[in-house]
Amino acid sequence: MAPLSTTTLLKTPLPRHQRRLLQPLSSPKHKRVTALCPATELLQELVVAAAAGDDAHQPPEKHKVQDDGAHATAVPRRASDETLAVHAGEKLGKCATDVVGTDSIATPIVSGTTHWFKSSEDLVAFKEGRRHSFEYGRYSNPTVKVLEDKISALERAEATLVTSSGMNAIVATLLALVPPGGHVVTTTDCYSEARAFIGDRLSKMGIRSTFIDLDDMESLEAVLDQSNVTLFYADSPTNPLLKCLDIRRVAELCHRKGALVCIDSTLASPINQKPLTLGADVVLHSATKYMAGHHDVIAGCVSSSEALISKIRAWHHDLGGAINPNAAYMIIRGLKTMALRVEAHNRTALDMARLLEGHPKIERVHYPGLESNPWHKVAKSQMTGYGGVVSFEVKSDLRGTMRFVDALEIPFIATSLGGCESLVQQPAVMSFWGKSDEEKAKSGIKDSMVRFSFGIEKFEDLRDDILQALEKI
Ligand SMILES: *Cc1c(COP(=O)(O)O)cnc(C)c1O
Repeated sequence: MAPLSTTTLLKTPLPRHQRRLLQPLSSPKHKRVTALCPATELLQELVVAAAAGDDAHQPPEKHKVQDDGAHATAVPRRASDETLAVHAGEKLGKCATDVVGTDSIATPIVSGTTHWFKSSEDLVAFKEGRRHSFEYGRYSNPTVKVLEDKISALERAEATLVTSSGMNAIVATLLALVPPGGHVVTTTDCYSEARAFIGDRLSKMGIRSTFIDLDDMESLEAVLDQSNVTLFYADSPTNPLLKCLDIRRVAELCHRKGALVCIDSTLASPINQKPLTLGADVVLHSATKYMAGHHDVIAGCVSSSEALISKIRAWHHDLGGAINPNAAYMIIRGLKTMALRVEAHNRTALDMARLLEGHPKIERVHYPGLESNPWHKVAKSQMTGYGGVVSFEVKSDLRGTMRFVDALEIPFIATSLGGCESLVQQPAVMSFWGKSDEEKAKSGIKDSMVRFSFGIEKFEDLRDDILQALEKI
């Protein structure tokens, strides 16, 4: 197998700040973008400094950036996630909005599918990398670029690709980073469709896959020793059992053997967890969930070094999974309140998990924020909050649990998670109806299990609703 150039670069575990300097591809397109966007460079500096947590790397107190001479962007000394969610890619880093040429505070939705050139000379300047253009909508778009820059800032990434769905981001990433003859190691707990793609489809393309338990580091070490692993892929936290992977430990083990680490961080959101700062090489999300946050748009994103994103972008161009600019705008808008929303999800979920843990009609609660949870220590070491999803088992059978679900008045019975509205589902019904007890047991699913995605409704209302429904079992 021809090793990936990046894998070779990662053979020895490099310190974080050096790995960030992984050489970008010498793509003239990329040079063009950075060369003409001082504000983006400044944002990058700010983000890198925030990731390093090192005052020596902070930009000066007020940093004036000339914006074609028209505006100057004042950047605060240290931007927090709350501020980056609102301003990154926009007031901080005006690259794309400059191209649109507007002083509107809201980023415009650029609906054009193609971008024109004023003359042949202008086109030649573009071809030679002296002028930036978005060229064609399947490759990039100004509204989408704003969203990508915002996510990069939140994930402390060099680059981000936004896609038409979370699955599109997963598929493009795997196809781009794992060549035929490659080997993917993943966990038995990862998102079911990603698991099926890795196990069933990649194998038909001559790519090996190995499934291990998420906390089985011995098996991971063994498979890394025995074969040339290209990429380790895992969700953390997992769905619906909220297990957490020790990302630092896994990155260290994998990098020793030259394997890349890709984390699906959807259940954490970029507010609660930043896998790249923990040593992962690639982080991806179903942006449909916390990032968009309103159960009204499907999207995905993947963030990494410029070098790896360039590879994924090339595949994505072929797959044609471009996000619609209207959908991109909805996520930009959703992200503005993400820090506030996630804080509310975190608080409600933790308070409810604690209350349920002591309730006589509850058998067991799965939530990494609980001190009693087997994943708590790992979660606490790498997350700043534990998210809005809580799974629990009620002391009843399949039908009794259905009665509990049906007695709830506030949440919708629905799949998905991460939006303003609380959702509830019984995995044995929603995902495993008609499947054998063996299949359920293999996935750790009990008939009495309920998965809640707590929304941002008032805690007391949700609490009272759950308590009254528990009386109906
Ligand atoms: C929803 C989800 C996906 C798939 O994302 P889509 O946007 O539905 O394509 C992948 N991973 C996790 C953890 C998810 O929750």
